[in-house]
Amino acid sequence: MGGEYNGKRFAEQLVEAGVQIGWGTRLVSFGPDTSATVFAMGFATRAAMSFGGIEAGDYRKILIYNKDRIFAFALPLGYVTDEWYANAAGAINWGFPAIADTPIPEVLPTGICTYEHVVSNVPHDKIVARAVEVRGLKTAVAEVPIPVAFGPAFEGERVRGEDIYLECGGGRTNMVEWVTTKRMEEVEDGKIEMVGPEITDVPAGSRLPLAIVVEVAGREMSEDNEPILERQIHHLLNYAQGIMHIGQRDIAWLRVSKAAAERGFKLHHIGVILHAKLHQDFGRIFDKVQVKIYTEDDKVNEVIQKARAVYGERDARIEGMSDEAADTYYSCTLCQSFAPTHVCIISPERTGLCGSYNWMDCKAAYEINPTGPNQPVSKGEVIDAKLGQWKGVNEFIFKASRGNLDHYNMYSIMNDPPTTCGCCECVAAVLPLCNGIMIVNRGYKEETPCGMKFTTLARTVGGGVSTPGFVGHSKYSICQRKFIMGDGGIKRVVWMPKMLKEEIAERLKARAEEIGIPNFPDMIADETVGTTEEEILPFLQEKGHPALTMDPILG
Ligand code: SF4
Repeated sequence: MGGEYNGKRFAEQLVEAGVQIGWGTRLVSFGPDTSATVFAMGFATRAAMSFGGIEAGDYRKILIYNKDRIFAFALPLGYVTDEWYANAAGAINWGFPAIADTPIPEVLPTGICTYEHVVSNVPHDKIVARAVEVRGLKTAVAEVPIPVAFGPAFEGERVRGEDIYLECGGGRTNMVEWVTTKRMEEVEDGKIEMVGPEITDVPAGSRLPLAIVVEVAGREMSEDNEPILERQIHHLLNYAQGIMHIGQRDIAWLRVSKAAAERGFKLHHIGVILHAKLHQDFGRIFDKVQVKIYTEDDKVNEVIQKARAVYGERDARIEGMSDEAADTYYSCTLCQSFAPTHVCIISPERTGLCGSYNWMDCKAAYEINPTGPNQPVSKGEVIDAKLGQWKGVNEFIFKASRGNLDHYNMYSIMNDPPTTCGCCECVAAVLPLCNGIMIVNRGYKEETPCGMKFTTLARTVGGGVSTPGFVGHSKYSICQRKFIMGDGGIKRVVWMPKMLKEEIAERLKARAEEIGIPNFPDMIADETVGTTEEEILPFLQEKGHPALTMDPILG
């Protein structure tokens, strides 16, 4: 603090207003005159010289050190005299911007400070947030202030049956999670908005629809980073004791245990966790984050519609890329907390089996976090182009599965298929009688022609092992060109639920035309035709389904 206003020193004004000053509160008066500001700047100069090893007089290096490492700014409060201007110009020359509450001329980026140099006319209730933003300060939340224990130790914890206080999603209700980018002024960092009933408003054993909307803003934030932040929701919520989270996007699933509810855990705390941890782990790519939580049906459905449109755009970004053209694939080991030997290898033509990560997302995630779960995997020598096996990929799988697996075939369901984890959007299973495969998505709850419902299938094959005859995959993958190419490709698909067929209808039609069978979607049976192999076989014969004349799928 320096200077005075209308004859009263800054420090005196604070004391009069009952504000405690001194080193304890970091409110230190450098002197009664405006020129005392120089002591604050001298302090920064000392820091650059002592900690940065910069020689006295080397003003350019001191500026760079201060700009990059001393996160200071000036707040001229009240009428700005010529002397104030002169001092503010000095601060700017040390990389410290000035944020004023009066309408003085603004100086926007010119290359000395990180962003703007002078920002003016900022109301008092916004001035701190604006200063933080203009100076490029990053928020760090050291501890996650929630009423239950929090940490990776609780990541694999299950909440079952009698222990459930609240359940959202998982096919019982609608649930969606969506990260979206907003303009700086639209986001208030740390704000958490709850619309609809809270945990405390419903009895134990309740079910609620749920939409978690995370709105981020930042100078470095790009839409390409949205899926990366969104995929963190899964493991971050699992860090909370008594909270179980499965899935992602519009097929997420959350359970809150009775013990967590008794300790005071509320849905509001989802926002607290995401604000703290996203800042901690990904603060480099955004500046502000606010969370909106909806538990009312119409609101949740509205979010689902908006999010689905965005999911479609994200998925389409890799359209047109081929596996052959990429030397590097990416790994994802995010799901190893539930399936310790599971490794997703993500190529341009094979998205992660949860549907949340494609090759582009993994590339962006690696650039943000080079030691994270998405590592580049150099393909190396081709071992089998048709089945999708490469030497470099095998070596990576061996290491990442801790020696449990030494290879898999990315394009096969029959021959050493990829591992599956419980997050998969769909499971494909071989139907020997029909010489093809069926696909079931997480949202379909009924029996399927392989004799198992989705939940049983996911439990059986989702533990991170390679199970010939079964493979987990994303909905998007079904129409990607390499989908089970080693076993004959999409022409093997003989059954899928009507809801899934309708959801992927447009891409399925395009893919059918590409393989030269434009009416292929009509040849695929669904539950209206039958739910056993015996029931669907006559339909396939009548339609002349191509699988019936292909090589035997069982080899
Ligand atoms: Fe990553 Fe695969 Fe899990 Fe998706 S399913 S988060 S891509 S490991």
